[in-house]
Amino acid sequence: MITQAQVRIQPARWQQELARGIADPHELLRLLDIAPASLPERVLLDSPFLMKVPHAYAARMRRGDAGDPLLRQVLPIDSETHDVPGYVADPVGDLQAEAVPGVLRKYRGRALLITTGACAIHCRYCFRRVFPYSGSHAAIDRWRAALDYLRGDPSICEVILSGGDPLTLGDAKLAELVQELDDIPHLARLRLHTRLPIVLPARIDDGLLAWLRRSRLQKVVVVHANHANEIDDEVAEALRRLHAAGVVLLNQAVLLAGVNDDAGALGDLSEAVFAAGVLPYYLHLLDRVAGAAHFDVEISRALQIMDKVRATLPGYLVPRLVRELAGSPSKVPAELLDGRDLAIVSTS
Ligand code: SF4
Repeated sequence: MITQAQVRIQPARWQQELARGIADPHELLRLLDIAPASLPERVLLDSPFLMKVPHAYAARMRRGDAGDPLLRQVLPIDSETHDVPGYVADPVGDLQAEAVPGVLRKYRGRALLITTGACAIHCRYCFRRVFPYSGSHAAIDRWRAALDYLRGDPSICEVILSGGDPLTLGDAKLAELVQELDDIPHLARLRLHTRLPIVLPARIDDGLLAWLRRSRLQKVVVVHANHANEIDDEVAEALRRLHAAGVVLLNQAVLLAGVNDDAGALGDLSEAVFAAGVLPYYLHLLDRVAGAAHFDVEISRALQIMDKVRATLPGYLVPRLVRELAGSPSKVPAELLDGRDLAIVSTS
């Protein structure tokens, strides 16, 4: 007879892939046939923001290419240690926007839940790379404080699940949360900000689609892809499955030096995501987080690049170039930034 202790629930395929993520930069370089000495910069082996890369994502990097745009997004390098004025721990004012632990209020009608600090991949430019997640995520008390807050404010019609990456949480936990959100009458929309469909497409499985379909809320999933090479057949299939489940799909990207800072790369990205049923939404200017200055693209150059993108693509494939400014009631279109952007830098 099999006892309770002998019964083991097999982790889902995506959970196994998540656990096997590559954490050693030298292992990643070995897989890609790249000698560390051939890189223009020293690889960081002791970054407090550890490297983390799913094998499914590494498989899309070009062998032997030290300048691969996907590799650049994840490989810790010496530039991260440079102290650059204006680059700070919390560039978008997350801490000052916290209403209760794990709930951020920035924009009218919307509330953002920090659901977890975990991600499947560690993007070196991430604006939350030094966010103090331990005390500030909404799952900490089984969502109680967050749900009480949402119930108490009828002006909130949209809840955004963010993180970290909300889809690193298991389906039971997410289904429980979404069931509670369904029961709050003034909520109309559920939005998820996630990079998992791109970096770990196995996450879009039947278990996830089941609770998404069950919810009465309108569903929007904002994925995060920065380069057309991130969209392979498995990613496209995952996105199509979300689309077929009635989810509105949008993409937000970050304009990153050495990754996608030319009109050709951005055009290819728009075409690739749209072919998979996703509309380009935002292209963010880099959030000036400490350790990410080497990814910055000057606004004047960014605007020139966007002029070229507009000249080659239909309007619906052109994302809005924006910057998030701490305390602003909305994202700010790059062409309206004027001196406001520089004022933030000089006072940081
Ligand atoms: S997946 Fe998103 S939250 Fe996670 S490290 Fe990358 S940019 Fe940051």
